[in-house]
Amino acid sequence: MSRLDALRGPTPPLDHNARSIAALAANPACDRRAVLDAVGVDKNLMAVHLGYSAQFGQSPFAVVRTRQFEEIVRAGGGAGLLPLLREALGLSIDTARWESADESADEGGGESAEEGAGEAHAVRHTRTEALVARAAGDPGTAVVLDRLLLRLDVAGHEVHLEPGVLVFQAGERFHVVTIKPFAVVDGQAETGRVSAAAREAAVYVHAMRALLVRMGLAPDRVSHDVVLVCPENFSNVPTASLLDVRRELSVLAWQLARLTRIDRILDGLPSGLSLDLRIEAGVPTRPAADLDEAVSGIAARYAPECLSACEMAYFCRAEARSGGALDALGRAVRDDLGGVETVGAAIGLATGTRTATAGEQGVAERLRHIRKIYQETVAQETVA
Ligand code: SF4
Repeated sequence: MSRLDALRGPTPPLDHNARSIAALAANPACDRRAVLDAVGVDKNLMAVHLGYSAQFGQSPFAVVRTRQFEEIVRAGGGAGLLPLLREALGLSIDTARWESADESADEGGGESAEEGAGEAHAVRHTRTEALVARAAGDPGTAVVLDRLLLRLDVAGHEVHLEPGVLVFQAGERFHVVTIKPFAVVDGQAETGRVSAAAREAAVYVHAMRALLVRMGLAPDRVSHDVVLVCPENFSNVPTASLLDVRRELSVLAWQLARLTRIDRILDGLPSGLSLDLRIEAGVPTRPAADLDEAVSGIAARYAPECLSACEMAYFCRAEARSGGALDALGRAVRDDLGGVETVGAAIGLATGTRTATAGEQGVAERLRHIRKIYQETVAQETVA
C-alpha cells in the first residue's frame, strides 16, 4: 500500500477535473492542499464534517447557464463558431470539420454515470488519440475536436480530464477553445473570472501538449493562445477573444512537478497521521475533533484567494485567524512583512516590545517608520 493510500484509508481516491487541477495553481505553496489533492480525499466532505461548509463550485443556476450557452455555441455543428475563430485567429478558412470523441453523446447518450467507468474512459481516450493524430497528420484541413478525453499524470496518478473545451486545428496549430457563460461587456470581462478561465484552459493546453509528446509530436503545436468564447453584452450572442496562458502554464507545470515530489512533503508529516474520514454508508464517522487535529498537522498557507479556489478555505481561515497568522491578511501583507509570521509579532516589532532578530531588522525599521508617520498624522488631525 502506498503512503498516499495509507493516509486516505479504504475510501477510493477522488478523480481530479480541470477545475480542481487549475485550482492547484491558485496556492502552489500550500502543503495541505498538495497533500489532500495527492491523497484524493473529498475536500468538500472533509470541510463539511469539520464544520466549515463552503458554498463551493458552480451554483445550479450557473451550471444550467453554462450548458445553455455551450449548446448555443455548438448549434448547427458549430456554424456560428467558425466566423469567431476565423476573426480571433486571423484565418481565412471557409469550412471546418467537426468531430467528437464521444460517440454516445452524438447518439444522444450524453454523459452517464457509467461513462466514468474505466472501459468507457479507455474507449474515449483511444478515440481522442485517433482524432488528434488524424488532425495533426492533415494540417491543411481545419477541424474542431469536441468531447476529447485527455489524461494527465498528477502526483503519480493518471487522471482523466472531462471535456470542458473544444480543440481547433488550422494549419499546424491546435488551439484550445473554452466556452464560458460570463458576459463580455464593451470588450471587458470580470478579471477574476477571466483569470479562472485562463487557469482552467491552461490545464487543457498542458494535457494536449502531453498527449502530443506521447504521440511523438512537437508539444508547441498546441498554442498558448486560448480562444475564449463568451456572451457579448448580456445577450446570448457569442464573441471570441484570445487569452495568453503562458504564465498559467508555467505555474501549473511547477505545481504538478511539486506534486510528483509529494514524498518530500510526506516525509515532514507527523508519523501515524491519517486523513481517513471513516466513511460508512456515505457519511464520515470519524470524530471531527480528531480529524481537525490531523488536518492541522499539515502546514497550510492560507490567503484570502483560497476562498474562491479551495473547499478547505473556511477551515484554514479560522485556523489562520485564531493563530494571528499574517497570512489571513493576504499575500501582499505577507510578502511585505516577509519573515514575520504573526500579527502579534508585527505589532511587537512596530512598538518595540519585541526585539527584532537578524532577519527581521529591515521589516522592523519599516514598521517603526510607518508607525511614526501614523502617530504624527493622528496628532495633527487631533490638533486641527
Ligand atoms: S484553503 Fe487551506 S488547504 Fe486550501 S489552499 Fe488555502 S490554505 Fe491550502
